[in-house]
Amino acid sequence: MKNILVIGGAGYIGSHTVNLLKKSGYNPIIYDNLSKGYKDVAEILNVKFIKGDLGDRKKLKEVFEKENITAVMHFAAFIEVGESVQEPAKYYENNVVKVTKLLDQMVESGVKNFIFSSTAATFGEPVKDKIDETHQQLPINPYGKSKLMVEKILEDYDTAYGLKSVVLRYFNASGSDKDGIIGESHIPETHLIPLILQAASGKRESIKIFGDDYPTKDGTCIRDFVHVYDLAKAHILGMEKMLKENKSLNYNLGSGEGFSVKEVIEKVKEVTGKDFKVETVEKRAGDPAVLVANSEKAKKELGWEPEYSLEEIINSAWKWENNRRY
Ligand code: UDP
Repeated sequence: MKNILVIGGAGYIGSHTVNLLKKSGYNPIIYDNLSKGYKDVAEILNVKFIKGDLGDRKKLKEVFEKENITAVMHFAAFIEVGESVQEPAKYYENNVVKVTKLLDQMVESGVKNFIFSSTAATFGEPVKDKIDETHQQLPINPYGKSKLMVEKILEDYDTAYGLKSVVLRYFNASGSDKDGIIGESHIPETHLIPLILQAASGKRESIKIFGDDYPTKDGTCIRDFVHVYDLAKAHILGMEKMLKENKSLNYNLGSGEGFSVKEVIEKVKEVTGKDFKVETVEKRAGDPAVLVANSEKAKKELGWEPEYSLEEIINSAWKWENNRRY
């Protein structure tokens, strides 16, 4: 059984990937500093847990010496666009400096397979309707820039040290485990779907739309929502191809369909049967108007097919919202 070190495995996308890895016959080991993640994930999913920081080379060295790690998946990033504009230093330190420490330790310890969570935010303002892997990468916020920097570092580390990577550029990760066992929980929550659901459940007074004069059909931003288990599946497929072919790969992961903020709010009302207050406020800094993926490459090369619709995403997230432990 292959051991996969999942850094940030106690967090949102990490924990769903750990769950799927286990179900797919791998032995995932969670490595997490618990700054954002939840320790009970390891107990619930019955996997080994190591408390450690992404940038702690000594600790990582010990782990690589002790466990026979086939590949490292990295989910321990800061991910908030708005915060990254306000506090760029925090983003460059965690998302770039610490990642190079991890990569350096991997190279030193001879662990040469890496799966990297990148983002649609590396592209900036789209110049075509659906963003494929050949689209220009001109990020407009520090979050996207920090992820693009690592993409570039990975190219150089492959050339110089033979470190192979799969770069997965997520569009809007959303939804939760359909049994409501694990789910999305950020403190503070900044993501659209959980915030709307909190308005639906009465935990929040209203949902605020960040700007309604974007150049889109209803003036609100358009995003491509992809279920967290569809993303998790792409990690496994991408890792298997990298291991088999010993080459670096990159894929854009989205459903290929865009929904406006207003449409998502309407869909939540429909799925939950709840009504709630909707307000329009100022735009949030760093938000492109439209981000929709073209994921044909992942479909063709990995046989990846996203299975969950927006409705199923909202349904699963609603189930978690009503059962959440944190
Ligand atoms: N958004 C919003 N109100 C909120 C949170 C988000 O209108 O309370 C908008 C945000 O401006 C963006 C979209 O919803 O256009 C998705 O934002 P989110 O933070 O969920 O993901 P991102 O696209 O930044 O990764």
